[in-house]
Amino acid sequence: MTEGSREQLCMDDVARAQVGKEGRNMLTATCHCGAVQVDVPRKPRRLTNCNCSICRRYGTLWAYYKASDVRVRAARGATMKYSWGEKSLCFVRCSTCGCVTHWQPVHLKKTSRMGVNARNFMPGAVKSVRIRPLDGASTWKYLD
Ligand SMILES: [Zn+2]
Repeated sequence: MTEGSREQLCMDDVARAQVGKEGRNMLTATCHCGAVQVDVPRKPRRLTNCNCSICRRYGTLWAYYKASDVRVRAARGATMKYSWGEKSLCFVRCSTCGCVTHWQPVHLKKTSRMGVNARNFMPGAVKSVRIRPLDGASTWKYLD
């Protein structure tokens, strides 16, 4: 529980920085049940389809943003986190429906990068966005 509370405080800080920045290009990614909503300021320029051990299992498509540009809206306890290995990143999912909503650094700063799962946008909103295959499993290079 302590871990979850810390995350909430951190995300609230990011959300505060976001006040007044929301424009008409904003998109919202929502989990299946709607308990977790992730606002981003604009359509992603490209999406990343990574073949690493976790992304291939989650089936995610990542849209990258600065953490200060992303607002995660979720009640306390509405999300669960998973990290492994060096534990520098954590993958966040809805506690109710299980949809993966984003990843973020474990120690989140406003300048951090984070990944928003573009599968949770309405399909029409990102249908024309180029998808790039990333070889996260071995070389960390884009394959296209
Ligand atoms: Zn949900």
